[in-house]
Amino acid sequence: MTAIDVAIVGVGKIARDQHLPSIEKSDYFRLAATVSRHTTVNGVANFATIDELLSARPEIGAVSLCMPPQARFDAAWQALSAGRHVMLEKPPGASVAEVQALVRLARDKGVALFATWHSRHAHAVPQAKALLAERTIQSVEIVWKEDVRRWHPGQEWIWQPGGLGVFDPGINALSILTEIVPHPVHVSSATLEFPENRAAPIAADIRFADHLGTPIRAEFDWRQTGPQSWNIDIATAEGHVRLSSGGAVLDVDGQRVAEGPDGEYDGLYRHFAALVAERRVDVDLAPLVHVADAFMLGKRVPAPAFHDDG
Ligand code: NAP
Repeated sequence: MTAIDVAIVGVGKIARDQHLPSIEKSDYFRLAATVSRHTTVNGVANFATIDELLSARPEIGAVSLCMPPQARFDAAWQALSAGRHVMLEKPPGASVAEVQALVRLARDKGVALFATWHSRHAHAVPQAKALLAERTIQSVEIVWKEDVRRWHPGQEWIWQPGGLGVFDPGINALSILTEIVPHPVHVSSATLEFPENRAAPIAADIRFADHLGTPIRAEFDWRQTGPQSWNIDIATAEGHVRLSSGGAVLDVDGQRVAEGPDGEYDGLYRHFAALVAERRVDVDLAPLVHVADAFMLGKRVPAPAFHDDG
């Protein structure tokens, strides 16, 4: 198999924590270049802009965009226009319509476009999905609470419009919800807490509805210190299903049925390789639509000012 040359664009936390190690292990991809304004990766050519990369290195067939969502559309548009396959970190964009425009462009150009949802590749998510396909869901309760100072130190973009605030991790829970619940659900109401000095919410309480009247609720909070919570509890007519640790662990009626290592990004790159081989588009906007709807329907309430240094 000939590995595809890929470039990473935006060398920040997620690029270093996950993308570089997964590409290093991958049989499908070879890291050929980076685009970064502030850093380099040992032994790999770096370009200051994606423009420079695209014109200097026509043999690089794919780019993986790891910058914040507000900067992603322009880079994706340029790469697709230049006939390159594109992988988008989550959330795929800062608005729904911009991602729809990318989908059209990718189809026109006949290249692969992959809007990744890494949490869907967490170890126990496929098993939870299979289980719920056979059961009657009675309620869903999502609790996604983490310490923003621990996971996003100094990240200014995350508090700016388009950065999503607490929906940046919360959208991971929504990507699991929309994967494992077999029918469509929609946001019916939300309360969003905005720190008085920030343009994005620090906490959100979201209610969903469906055609069956199933109670579905999600609580997101960035002020959680101590143990962190990334749990989804699903009551079903056949018993209790719990996904925890962000989807890595599955318990059914209190019994552990699945627990596995973190292979989320390895899974993403495997899937991207399959999309590239078929020049296919895989863009599921459902999690981003829920976030947009929560912003549209949500009641905004003030919260105390947030400062990184506490
Ligand atoms: P980050 O540490 O702030 O890194 C983002 C990088 O993007 C920056 O280092 C910068 O790299 C580049 N960049 C390009 N345009 C930028 C702009 N206008 N503002 C700021 N940076 C810009 O962020 P991150 O945590 O890696 O998150 C990036 C994306 O990955 C987000 O969409 C996030 O939701 C997603 N993600 C993050 C995590 C996580 O654990 N942090 C997990 C899963 C997904 P250069 O200076 O190299 O250009």
